[in-house]
Parts: sequence; structure tokens; C-alpha cells
Amino acid sequence: MESKEKIKIVVAIASFAVLSIFFTAQYRKRRYRKCSQSSCYLHTEPKPQYSFKRVLADNSYSAFKHLKLGESNSETSLHSHPYEAEISALLENAEIEFSFGTESMDLKISDSYVWVETELQLKELVDVLSKQRVFAVDTEQHSLRSFLGFTALIQISTQNEDYLVDTIALHDALDVLQPVFANPSICKVFHGADNDVLWLQRDFHIYVVNLFDTAKACEVLSKPQKSLAYLLETYCGVATNKLLQREDWRQRPLSVEMLEYAQTDAHYLLYIANCLIAELRQHDSENSCCPDDKLRFVLEASRRSNTVCLQLYIKEIEISPGESAASSIISRHLNGQGGISSKACDLQFQDLVRRLCTWRDLMARIHDESLRYVLSDQAIIALADKVPTTQKEICTLISQADLNVDSLSSSSILPSPSPVVCSHLEDFNYLFKDKMGKLDDVFLEILQKHLGPDGSCPLSVFNYAILSKTNLKLTNRLVSKQNGIKNSRQVGQKASRELFVKKFSCKSPVYHNCRIFASDGRLLCYCDRRKLEWYVRRGLAKLVDDNPLAIMLLFEPKGRPEDEDNDFYVQSKKNICVGCGEKNHYLRYRIIPSCYRMHFPEHLKSHRSHDIVLLCVDCHEVAHSAAEKYKKKIAAEFGIPLFVQKVVDSREAQIASQLSTSEVNTVEAGVSPLQLRTAAMALLRHGPRMPSNRREELRQTVMKYYGGREITEEDLEKALLVGMSPHERKRLERKKGMSLKHSKGTGFPNKEQESNARSMGTSPIDNVLKVDGEGGLNTTKGEACGKQENGNDLEITMEVLASDSNNLSSDRSEMSEMKDTCVMDTDNCESRSQSEGTLDLFYPKSDGNASPKHNPKLSLLGHGPHGKEVVDHLLKEYGEDGIRQFCQRWRQTFVEAIHPRFLPAGWDVMHSGRRDFGEFSVYNPAKNAFAPANG
Ligand code: AMP
Ligand code: MN
Ligand code: ZN
Repeated sequence: MESKEKIKIVVAIASFAVLSIFFTAQYRKRRYRKCSQSSCYLHTEPKPQYSFKRVLADNSYSAFKHLKLGESNSETSLHSHPYEAEISALLENAEIEFSFGTESMDLKISDSYVWVETELQLKELVDVLSKQRVFAVDTEQHSLRSFLGFTALIQISTQNEDYLVDTIALHDALDVLQPVFANPSICKVFHGADNDVLWLQRDFHIYVVNLFDTAKACEVLSKPQKSLAYLLETYCGVATNKLLQREDWRQRPLSVEMLEYAQTDAHYLLYIANCLIAELRQHDSENSCCPDDKLRFVLEASRRSNTVCLQLYIKEIEISPGESAASSIISRHLNGQGGISSKACDLQFQDLVRRLCTWRDLMARIHDESLRYVLSDQAIIALADKVPTTQKEICTLISQADLNVDSLSSSSILPSPSPVVCSHLEDFNYLFKDKMGKLDDVFLEILQKHLGPDGSCPLSVFNYAILSKTNLKLTNRLVSKQNGIKNSRQVGQKASRELFVKKFSCKSPVYHNCRIFASDGRLLCYCDRRKLEWYVRRGLAKLVDDNPLAIMLLFEPKGRPEDEDNDFYVQSKKNICVGCGEKNHYLRYRIIPSCYRMHFPEHLKSHRSHDIVLLCVDCHEVAHSAAEKYKKKIAAEFGIPLFVQKVVDSREAQIASQLSTSEVNTVEAGVSPLQLRTAAMALLRHGPRMPSNRREELRQTVMKYYGGREITEEDLEKALLVGMSPHERKRLERKKGMSLKHSKGTGFPNKEQESNARSMGTSPIDNVLKVDGEGGLNTTKGEACGKQENGNDLEITMEVLASDSNNLSSDRSEMSEMKDTCVMDTDNCESRSQSEGTLDLFYPKSDGNASPKHNPKLSLLGHGPHGKEVVDHLLKEYGEDGIRQFCQRWRQTFVEAIHPRFLPAGWDVMHSGRRDFGEFSVYNPAKNAFAPANG
């Protein structure tokens, strides 16, 4: 028996030994990573924060923008607290009733809590909270796999319930909590709110107004300790394991222990606050010798708490990124951590430490990782000390450095070298080799390599602002420091140009469905590819999608959908895509294309809001292309061509009549006046220098207009006049001294069509004349303007690009062309009137509703007289019922294309125009103060 026992023990020990050897080996294997990956690890590793669509604090080197309230404060709020007045009022006369009525509170924590992960649940929570006089809050953060960190959980406790809010699932929806947190008549209890207050600002623009911080109360009461663990122990007899605060709070589902920890952190706060307030009161009554001193303790605790609320989150931005970390590493090393190293005095060592710190900073921002996750301090020291020459050596040095430190400390086990290092080992060539090169240059080169047009790393909501903003900053620095250095913009432009050639050539043109996104990922507009080209060529944007093409602007456009004064945003903020319910981005979509609607009799337009709906990018695309198809169908059905064609002057009428019009397909033939003008203009001005295939393409466009015959220079000049008002033509005549024999009767079949065509655009020729007036209709001016292109380009805004930019110093001629392009392709996009300037291409105050007579610049349609002819035909043949049926057909087309699931109640295909909208419908024009006034 005894020997049997012994054998059992021996076997047990042996197997334990085997197992531990096995696991140690596994562990080593895991830690000592093979450095063989070549493309960025992020392509295969999803991170929870990559599902966030709106990120307020990105990883760029630009300042954090705080919430701004009201229209009076139009400046971007960098240094002012949006609730400064409310908080100051609380600081001055805090007459808050500090009785939370928790005396009878059940201290026992139940295992029930409410897990909030849907928007509906969140909305219900907001409803509950808005009825409270007080609630308790705590947050859990994640900081290892994130550059700035993010809130992974918010715990909220009322007297009745504990809520755990999944702030990863609800990241983009959390702004609904702003009002209750900012409400001065609801007290929020935190423990040690200093960080939480800033984190809530950083992630959600949530500002706490009226705070009671139990840690501040402890200070005022001179408690021996002010930790939450101490308070829980003392007041509630609850022990808590604070080690859990360092868990990975991103994980889902959360472990039972973590859930319990999270719930506990907020659950007892109301009770503890009540106890502390009672003590503060008691101090006051004991020391109330003079009436002024009444509530001195209570008020002091409140004052200290609300002072915390006045803090503003800031992003720490170094002039030389990574410099402070480098200095601290160097000085720590000089002070002999791990023995005095003669190396530390070495200038090369110091230079390498700086390089590695700069690289680490950049990589952490690009990949949204913490610095320590990318590369540890000790690894930086080892690398700078040994200066490895091979990739294998680099990996070995790093993992050894981390192993040495890890064996001494209990720091968490991180992969070493990190995936960031492993998948970007080539970077070290730049860092170690070119030792004489300027750090800025190395930095920019690496930046381009990773985030440039052909970059190795994925663009994300966290990193796409880095490139442009860094460029701007560093360019300025470089320019002021030294001259003649190749700046990043040039690097970027060259790369962009190459990319452009690669991406755009030999592909069939894709019209209408190119998208432009702002640097925060919001859709700004649809356009054609020439507009994309314009931005990409200048390094102002980067391609983010191939099919359909999409670019992201690398600068901040002046006008944004969310600008406070933008009615589009205010109006649509509450809304969602009627197709799929998407709420993060949407565009207004006109179900009845404006080219028809604008010609409707005024009284039939009054219920416009019914036929303008919000659609997300994807649904918009589907609806738009269905509409384009349907237009062709209508063109065929009515025999009214979509485009103007064969506009000839009287002298050429005979030639024209020889061509049989009936042969011409009503759908495909012809050309829009603006397309025509653009093509003619480009040929006149840049023709000789154009690539021959492009020149031919444009020539074909103009030839289409002349019924397919060969064209002369004179034809081109005449083509410029199409759609021009007599006034405009006169002006052209004056400026050019041109003999415009054809200026009267340019071949429009009748006066009506002429006035229609006149309404087709913003008369780009005006621009050209402003630009070219002195130089004539030739190419010299265009070149001269082109030369002015420089770093300042980044300041070009949407406004400038899209408006009559008389006083603009850069590349005007290109811009007027651009404008044409935009004009042509914004049929279903919105357009604000030119004179207003901002957001010209995108979101209008007025729309196609307005009669062209009232605003001749408004209609930006590419279909010439087609729309008017169709409407006239309908009215003549069927009267107003014809128009109503026509609208129904368009609604039907829309419904069939989209199968919308989120249309407002009351919307229907048969909509007659007499139906009223519900009292609470956002489509109720009476209710909606932001609805355009015309209509
Ligand atoms: P708590 O409210 O005490 O649970 O802390 C909130 C968050 O702060 C945690 O989720 C952690 O992300 C962070 N935190 C607080 N203290 C530490 C610490 N000593 N080490 C790491 N993270 C901490
Ligand atoms: Mn906590
Ligand atoms: Zn990468």
C-alpha cells in the first residue's frame, strides 16, 4: 500500500514536471515570436475600437475639440468649457439639497444588474436617469491596445438599479447621455472623478455638471484614507479586489468576477455619499459659531468636486513627437539604472533612442496601440545600445530585453517583439542606416510608407488625420528651419500622382458614384472621378475605396454637415436612412429628380418634404442608379432625349437637317450643356498639352453636340456659349473683344429652352473669364496659376473650391473646371446657393424647388431641356393628375430599388400632396423649423 502511494506521488510529480516543461516551452514560443510577417498585422487582427464610427479624440497631432454650445460661440472650442457658466454657478452658490434619501437603502448587492447594449436600452436608461435627483457613476477603461485609451464600460447606479453600459457596442450612440450628465439639478456621485470626467469628455463629449466626489469628501473630512476600497470596507463591510481594474475590459462577455467588480464600484456610492454628507453636516453644526460658516464643510466638498468638473480633456502634443519619452529614457539611463553605461553619453546612442521613440510614437498612433505595447523602454535601450544589423538580431534583442525585465517585475505578459515591430521590421533600416539624415525626413518617409496612398497599414478612424496634419506641421517647421528640403507634400503628391495614374487609367469611367469622405469618415458628397482626381493629384486626399471609387480628404473642409448653422445636420440628426436604418451617415435623397420637379407648378411642390428622404451611402447609390435608369426609360417613353444635341446655329440648320433625327437614340445621344462647356473649355485651353486619348474623349463629347461632325476651333468657342444668358454673353464679348456672331440664336429650338439651359449652372465661363480675362482664352494663365501651388494648398476649403472664388490665389483655372464637374454630377446631391459659399456642393438651404427664375444659379442639372419638356408634356396631355401620377411612378421606382424599411409613418407611394403629416413626424413641415422656407 505504501509503495503504491509512493508511486502515485512520483507519477504525479513526474507528470507535473513534464507539463510544466511543456507549458514553459509553449510560453516561450508564444513570447518569442517569429518575425516573418511582411504586411501589417492589423489587416488580420480586428480590434473592438475599429467598429467605432465617430471618434472625438483621434491619434493625430492635433488638439482635441471640445463640445461647443450655442451659436454665439462660433470659435472651435479648444480652451473653454461648454458648461463653465453652470459649473461656476454651482461653485458660487451651491444650494443643493444633499439628501439622497438613501437611509433606507438596501445595501445588499443583488446579482441582478441591467446590461445596456442596445440603443433602445440606452434610451430607456436616459429616461430613468432624467427622473433622478442623483445617481452614481464609474467607468472602466482600456489602455493597452489603444493609443489614447477608451471607455470600455460605464457603470451607473440609481437607488433602485445597477446599470452596466457597454460603451463599446454603444460607442457612437452615447451622446444621448450628455443631457443628464450636464443637468445641474441632477447630482452625479463619483469616487475620484478626476480621470473619469476627462475620459467621458474624450470619448463622448459628456460633461459632468453637479458632481459629488466621495474622494473629495474624504479630503475635507481628513479621513485616514480616501480609496474606494477603504470606504467600501469601512461603510459597507465589503471587500474588493482592486486588481480587477487592470483586467482587459474590452472582453465580451465580461467574466463573472469583472461584472461583480464593476457593479460593486458604483453600487455603494450613493450610500457612501450619504454617510459622508451626514458627517460633513455634523462637522458644520459642531463648528457653526458664525452664520457664514454654516455648511462650510458640505460646501467645501461640493466646491472641490465641481472644480474637478471644470477640467478639460487635452491631447498632449509634443513639438517633436517622442522627444519627452526619449529624454526620460536617456536620463534614466544616465542615472545608472542597470549600471552606468558609457554608452549613454554617446551621441549616437542618444540619437538612436530619439529615433526609436519617434518611431514608436508614430507607430502607436498609426495602429492605435499604447507605446508600451509597440516597444518597451528597455527594448529601445537595448536596440540603441547594440545597433543590430539584421532583422533576426532586432527580434532577439527586443525579446531578451523584455524577458529580463519581465522576470523581475510582474508586468503583464505582452508579445515580444510586438506584432507592430514584427510586421514593420523594414522600418529599422531607415532608423539605423541613415544616421545622418534628419529625423523629420525619416519620420515622413515612414509615415508615407505606412499611411500614404500605397501604405502598408489600414486607414482607420484613429489615424487618417495624422498624415495631413503632420505634413502641415512638419512642412512649416522644415520651411522655417531650412530651405530647399524636399517636403512631405511633394513626397505625397508624387506618390498620389503615381497612384492616380495606376488607379484611374484604363478603367472605364464611373460616373456619379464616386464618394468623398471627410477625415472623420463622414460622407460629404457624391461626385464624378474627375473631382476625385483633382484632390488626389494635389495630395489633398487619399483613395480609400476602389470600387466604387472613394477618397478621403486629408484636410478639414470648411463646411461640414454637422456645423451648427447647417440646417441639414440639425434636421437630419434625429433621422436615419429610410432604407436600412443606418444612422451614422446619410444624405438627402430626392425621390422625384429635381430636373422634373423644378418645373412643376408651384402648388404641386408644396409637399416637398414627403419626397425628400434620408439615405445612407449604400442605399443612396442604389436609389440614384435606379433613378438614372428610370430617366432613360422616361426619355424613351416620351421620346424626349435626356441631353441636348445637335444644337446648331441657323447657318448650319441645313446641314443638320440632312441628318435624320429619328435615327438618333433619345437616350444615348446628345450631351449636357455643362459637359459640353467643360469639354470645349478644356480643349481650348489645354488641348495641345493633353494626353491624346483624353483629348479625343473630349472632342467626341463636343462632336456629339454637333451631331457627330468634325469640329473646328470656332465650334469650340461657340460651344462655350451654350446655356449662357444674353447678359453673360455680352460680358464675354466685352472681356474678350470676341466677335460673337452666333451669340443670338445659338441653336436652341426656342426661347423656353434657352432660359432653361441658362438655369443649368453657375456659369463657369464667368470664372474662366475672371481668371483668363487678361490672358485670353489660352493656356498661359492656367500654367501661371499652377505654379502657385504650394503648401498653402492645404488650406483650400470646400468653400473655395466650390464658390466663385474671385480672390483665390491658387490654381483657379482648374477650379473652375472642377466646378463644372461637380455641377454636372450633383443631380441627386444637394446644392446650397453659391452666394452662401459654404458647403456649396453638398447641402443646400434651398433646393430644386425654387424656381430657376428666383435663383438662376440653383439648378445644377445635366439634362438640359429634358426635364422641362417632360413636365410640359405631362401638363399638356394629362394636366395636374399627370404630374401626380408621374410622382407616384418615381416613388414606386424608389420603393422597388430600395425596399425601404424605415420610411416615416404616413409616407406612401400614392401620396397626393393633401395628406397631413403626423403631429410628431419629422416630416411635418409645420413642426420642422429647419425645413427650407421656400417650397
Ligand atoms: P476603477 O474605477 O478604480 O475601477 O478604475 C477605472 C479604470 O482606471 C480601470 O478600468 C483601469 O483602466 C484604470 N486604472 C485605474 N487604476 C489603475 C492601475 N493601477 N493600473 C492600471 N489601470 C488602472
Ligand atoms: Mn471601476
Ligand atoms: Zn502597420
